[in-house]
Amino acid sequence: MSIIDGTYQQILALNQKKEDIITLKDELPDAPYHIFSINAMIRDAEMRYERLIKIPNKVKCSQCDQSIEEHSVRLNNELFCNHCVRTISQVMNTSEMEERNSMKAGTVKQDCNNAIKFLQKTSLVRKSNKCWLVHESLIELFYHAGRSRRHLETSWVDEMENHIKQLQNQLRIFNELGSSPTGTTLQVFSLNAQINDYEHRLKTVQGGIHPFRCSQCNGWIRAVGLPILLGHFTLCHNCKTTIERVMTASEIETRFNFVPGRIRKDIHRGLLDKYQEMGLLRQSGSIWIMHVSVIKDYYFPEKQETPVSIDIPPSLLARSAAILQRKQDSGYI
Ligand SMILES: [Zn+2]
Ligand SMILES: [Zn+2]
Repeated sequence: MSIIDGTYQQILALNQKKEDIITLKDELPDAPYHIFSINAMIRDAEMRYERLIKIPNKVKCSQCDQSIEEHSVRLNNELFCNHCVRTISQVMNTSEMEERNSMKAGTVKQDCNNAIKFLQKTSLVRKSNKCWLVHESLIELFYHAGRSRRHLETSWVDEMENHIKQLQNQLRIFNELGSSPTGTTLQVFSLNAQINDYEHRLKTVQGGIHPFRCSQCNGWIRAVGLPILLGHFTLCHNCKTTIERVMTASEIETRFNFVPGRIRKDIHRGLLDKYQEMGLLRQSGSIWIMHVSVIKDYYFPEKQETPVSIDIPPSLLARSAAILQRKQDSGYI
């Protein structure tokens, strides 16, 4: 077997092992940490594999910055990979979420004002003018989890920290008791070993090597610091921004100083049909929601790049356009 084949087989085997861990996650103590560790091995193997087969620089999605083989949606200045189009289409208003999951009308809206309001910092819950927008992932994270916010409030990394504190507390009690009760020495030894083990794990997780994989774009997260962690759900900051840039027509009209109702009117006249087909604009309940790029693409075409000679490979052009657009856009919202 060649080195290339061997590395590929190794990636497959590691992914299989990860699947096994995920299947057993409810029985396995510290499952998220084990998933984190195996992700580190998968990431290393994938990087080695890419170096071996020398994947050339590919076109990158202008939202999640991950390489894409074939972009699914192209605007004048932006590319959207399939993952990001899906992320955008998963944003909905509260009544759509209620209808889709046969919930009592008003349930999600009420939760947005109370139980899950704190998730605004993650972008999974967002107020767009008067309307709440929610992300589909909440169905599994919150509604299928019995509307419990417990595991949303503390990440598995926080839980590890809490566990260390508990162990340290037990150790302190044993130390205060002195050596009189039988078995104390063994307990102290065991507690010290556990504390060392957890401290080592925490150091690995927080040590700047981040084999976190975003649940939305499926990309390895390169940014420094911990990503958004909600149970087994991980969100990178690029995908967070993608979700934040999905807005109601009314918010867009306010932001861009449009006459109220202009977008709805243009939609009814069929002017924005192509964006609907692309999956960047859609009706959710009784309102229209869209990614902000639609507006820039349709209403502000003067921001487009000037056409460039076709001698330059299209992939390079697309990549430069995406980079330029990202630079222009940084701090836009
Ligand atoms: Zn993407
Ligand atoms: Zn992502």
